[in-house]
Amino acid sequence: MSGSGHHRNAELQARVNRLLDLAEARGVITRPEVDARIEAYGDRVTARNGAEMVVRAWNSPEYRDRLLADAGAAAAELGHAGSGYSSDIRLHAVANTPDVHHVVVCTLCSCYPLAWLGPPPAWYKSEAYRSRVVRDPRGVLREFGLVLPNTTEVQVWDASAEARYLVVPMRPDGAEALSEAEQVDLVTRDCLIGTAVPTVPARV
Ligand code: FE
Repeated sequence: MSGSGHHRNAELQARVNRLLDLAEARGVITRPEVDARIEAYGDRVTARNGAEMVVRAWNSPEYRDRLLADAGAAAAELGHAGSGYSSDIRLHAVANTPDVHHVVVCTLCSCYPLAWLGPPPAWYKSEAYRSRVVRDPRGVLREFGLVLPNTTEVQVWDASAEARYLVVPMRPDGAEALSEAEQVDLVTRDCLIGTAVPTVPARV
């Protein structure tokens, strides 16, 4: 790591510590509570939650309908209710088709469907991603290695305090031969943000 990276990490750590001091002093939360929350997240709150929802939708048209109509309820069906979340936050599922590809951003800050995707990647919170994906989504996706046909429209969803978005990618060719568990492995976090699409690795 570079010296400036070290410096920046130390600065961030100091900032986090000041915030925790304030939060404890005001009785908002204690450090042990924060640790407990992080530990619980580590096990339960991962992109596997969202991936399981996507794969169920691939294999059940009825579930897919329910997911697109009310993603929060459909998440709860699979035990991914997003507990600890504000009830004001609504989850929306947006499904890719050959005609439209969805990608998610929070232009204002870093709103993210954490309960279903786990902690966000650093780039999601970066100024560069947040500003550029709106102006040039196709160009940004290309930098992620995702080249879409010109006939596919790119739709950008701006997450907010009230609305979080989960992208439902299309099932790739060849995935129908795999078990549901194997299909879940294909759906990465980036697939659920819309900066990647699932692919079936070639059999060797
Ligand atoms: Fe935000």
